[in-house]
Amino acid sequence: MAHRPASRERAPYQKYAVEVRASAIDGQGVFAAEPITAARKIGEIRGEAISVTEARIRATRHARVMIVEVSAERAIDFRRSTDPMRYTNHSCRPNARLDIRQGRVEFYALRAIAPGEEITVNYGPTHHDGKLACRCGAPGCAGWI
Ligand SMILES: [Zn+2]
Repeated sequence: MAHRPASRERAPYQKYAVEVRASAIDGQGVFAAEPITAARKIGEIRGEAISVTEARIRATRHARVMIVEVSAERAIDFRRSTDPMRYTNHSCRPNARLDIRQGRVEFYALRAIAPGEEITVNYGPTHHDGKLACRCGAPGCAGWI
């Protein structure tokens, strides 16, 4: 794998500038570093393509799961990815959505996002099977992921 220098340069598929920093929701989060237009692509995550079987084994091994199942057979593990969008937190009232295309996970703005706002998506069903407490703090929070 090519070494990527630790610069502020971003991948061509990262369409908007974002910042990864501590989040009130969980661990680190992704924050808009410039105004993001509604419905526009924010960026994407590219990771290691693995089988769903392997994904489920890995999910039991790590406390912090960074795997998305993209079909009944294929999954992507983002553990080794350097794409900032991999830190996107869940919210029950998200301002962005996931779109899985050709084995990549793309993020689109559901509405205009102001600089400094945390970018969130609704994860949908996760490896946590509804056993992880949700701390998104949104009105109408489901309480569990
Ligand atoms: Zn919630």
